[in-house]
Amino acid sequence: MIIGIETTAHTFGVGIVDKGKILANEKDAYTTESGGIIPMDAATHHKEVSEKIWKGALEVAGIDEDKIDAIAISQAPGLPPCLAEGMRFAKKKAKELDVPLVPINHCVAHLEIGKIVGAKDPVMLYASGANTQIIAYAEGKYRVFGETLDTGIGNFIDNFARYFDLGFPGGPKVEKLAKEGKYIEVPYTIKGMDVAFSGLLTKLKQLYEKGESKEDLAFSLQETAFATLVEAAERALAHTGKKELLLGGGVGCNARLQEMCKLMCEERGAKFFVPERSLLVDNGAMIAYLGEIMFNAGIRVEDIDNLDIDSRQRTDMVDVRWK
Ligand code: AMP
Ligand code: MG
Repeated sequence: MIIGIETTAHTFGVGIVDKGKILANEKDAYTTESGGIIPMDAATHHKEVSEKIWKGALEVAGIDEDKIDAIAISQAPGLPPCLAEGMRFAKKKAKELDVPLVPINHCVAHLEIGKIVGAKDPVMLYASGANTQIIAYAEGKYRVFGETLDTGIGNFIDNFARYFDLGFPGGPKVEKLAKEGKYIEVPYTIKGMDVAFSGLLTKLKQLYEKGESKEDLAFSLQETAFATLVEAAERALAHTGKKELLLGGGVGCNARLQEMCKLMCEERGAKFFVPERSLLVDNGAMIAYLGEIMFNAGIRVEDIDNLDIDSRQRTDMVDVRWK
């Protein structure tokens, strides 16, 4: 039985997995009424809720702490204060329970959890707050085929929402606004399999100052930014010859993005997989899920005092020894 802790950014989550089955997936996310995420405040939030979420997960799973074989911890990448708080908590628990830690790369966990919905060897469109990447497995590593050249898709949407004082997270609010909007022409930026959003953000803000409606801007944002993501993902499918697309990350909750992915897959005869919402957003279950796979492959850290966070670890730096 593996317990997993997610703590890379806004969410503190604890999940419990046993033989590939999710027994619990509890979380508490830091939010704001207006303005964006303040890393130190998010870390303070994590510290305040950690015991409660930990206990809640054990209760939901109906297990005692002594059944736990290892603690999987999101070691990388993310906001340093949030990662550090999670690592501190994980080490404390590991010492109390006398179990090893399994250090997890958060992005890889988003991909591996796709197995639970049937994705075997997918290209993943990882569309989250800070991360936007097209990832697929090739020759011993998860490789990044394309990515954002500036901000993550979610941060870009949140930044747009912040401009209108919609609060954090902005994604669901922008999705709602977009339902009432129509298309205005805005810049479409893609180079190969890389995308960029800062030019689009500037243009959207300028158009708002010129009197265009929030609804039209939200609609145009989604149509344009999501189309670049889907185009990059399609190119990666063509390049790798893979036949599955997996959506991951919080922006993957967006119904329009899901629809566009589905259409593209239908047109090229690929299968489309999207996990349920609780597994798309940052969550402890995916950390525990990958933790169990790695633990079973013999990957664990017993000497936990020497384990540290790695806020800038890239997906392709992970040595995939469990496949
Ligand atoms: P993550 O970092 O993977 O937990 O995802 C968080 C990001 O997902 C934030 O930037 C949110 O604004 C975004 N998000 C959540 N729900 C939606 C949605 N329905 N549409 C677009 N973005 C969303
Ligand atoms: Mg994430």
